Amino acid sequence: MTIQNRQLPARADVVIIGGGVMGLSTAYHLARAGVERVVLLEKGALGEGSTSRAAGGVRAVFSDEINIALGLHSLATFEQFEPEFAQPIDLHQVGYLFLLDNDEHVQTFTRNAELQNAMGVDSRMISVAEAKRLSPLIDTDGLQAALWSPRDGHCTPESVVQGYARAARAAGVTILTSTPATGIETEGTDIRGVLTPGGTIATSSVVCAAGAWAKQVGAWVDVPLPVEPLRRQIVITEPVPDLDPATPFTIDFSSSLYFHNEGQGLLVGMSEDKDSWSFDTSRDSAWLPGLAEAMVHRMPSVADVGIQSGWAGLYEMTPDHNALIGRSREVPGFFYACGFSGHGFLMGPAVGEVMRDLYLDRTPFIDVTALDLARFERADVRPELNIV
Ligand SMILES: Cc1cc2nc3c(=O)[nH]c(=O)nc-3n(C[C@H](O)[C@H](O)[C@H](O)COP(=O)(O)OP(=O)(O)OC[C@H]3O[C@@H](n4cnc5c(N)ncnc54)[C@H](O)[C@@H]3O)c2cc1C
Repeated sequence: MTIQNRQLPARADVVIIGGGVMGLSTAYHLARAGVERVVLLEKGALGEGSTSRAAGGVRAVFSDEINIALGLHSLATFEQFEPEFAQPIDLHQVGYLFLLDNDEHVQTFTRNAELQNAMGVDSRMISVAEAKRLSPLIDTDGLQAALWSPRDGHCTPESVVQGYARAARAAGVTILTSTPATGIETEGTDIRGVLTPGGTIATSSVVCAAGAWAKQVGAWVDVPLPVEPLRRQIVITEPVPDLDPATPFTIDFSSSLYFHNEGQGLLVGMSEDKDSWSFDTSRDSAWLPGLAEAMVHRMPSVADVGIQSGWAGLYEMTPDHNALIGRSREVPGFFYACGFSGHGFLMGPAVGEVMRDLYLDRTPFIDVTALDLARFERADVRPELNIV
């Protein structure tokens, strides 16, 4: 990323903490709406948190209607991203295919599909034979049915980051990389400024888009954001002979194994046997035997293909696996968009627009009230079931 640090501005209308897809999309939409002094702080390089480590899946098939709405709206943006932002993002609308191997999952996904259809998503339950035809690498052993959503797919998160960053700068946003926020200055419940190693930026508004690190940022203003980092790993395989270019983003829901085409090979991911709840993003080979076992079972023809590369990244988990989006009641200058629990990349475009609306005190174009932090105080959680 070639964006250079500029001098620290003395004052901002709003400071956004975090330069992943959420922070950048929010910055862009605020500036486009006429907010003049938008400053975005990123402690490292843009996208270096979870965004550039995502599998790039984009979809509207969720169990929660807010997520369906956010996914669907974002999908429309991804479809128009290249002409709108002059930035190719390598979007492949090859569909999402959830493979289901038990009655309970089949019933849940059937209900979800009804909700998705009612909201304009073209998803449907299909037979095992049709799933095999769509995703020829799978072994169908034990499968009962699948959910198929043809408009979904995958694209390149780094390119989306570049597109938003360039457009945000052109719209007047000051983007400062290698610039951590180290605290927030308050007076009573009013925000006065954001601290950095280079000095303080005076401001009355902060957007926390700090991903897996959001809890720390919230703590500076006594807003308890329940976000915990959970490591997830991915491998890229060597080229796979005769790979069907239309292979969907395929998820074996029970095992959490998933894959999609990546160049001549496959990107393959799965949860670890034993969850690693920390900021550690080192690759851990203890994960590989479980992955190999799941691959032998569900995609045996590629189980012997070599691994070319891989990486680890952080899911930013909340207790109900659903995002935290809102404005603090106690500290009204504090806004948050975090805790996307492993499905945030695909929501970045819509969430940026929602954050713009919340900041401008407009009714957001998607009602996200139920994703407010207060749901945990009310014990009114909203579990999102369609994640692996
Ligand atoms: C292996 C893996 C696969 C995934 N696959 C998918 C997928 O297929 N589809 C999907 O939608 N999602 C996926 N995700 C989830 C997705 O990556 C995240 O939900 C999304 O990127 C969150 O974006 P964000 O902008 O909120 O967070 P981030 O991209 O993490 O951005 C937050 C930024 O804040 C910065 N920051 C933190 N603290 C400070 C501070 N004090 N000062 C300044 N900067 C700070 C961090 O450096 C970071 O860059 C995946 C995640 C992983 C790990």
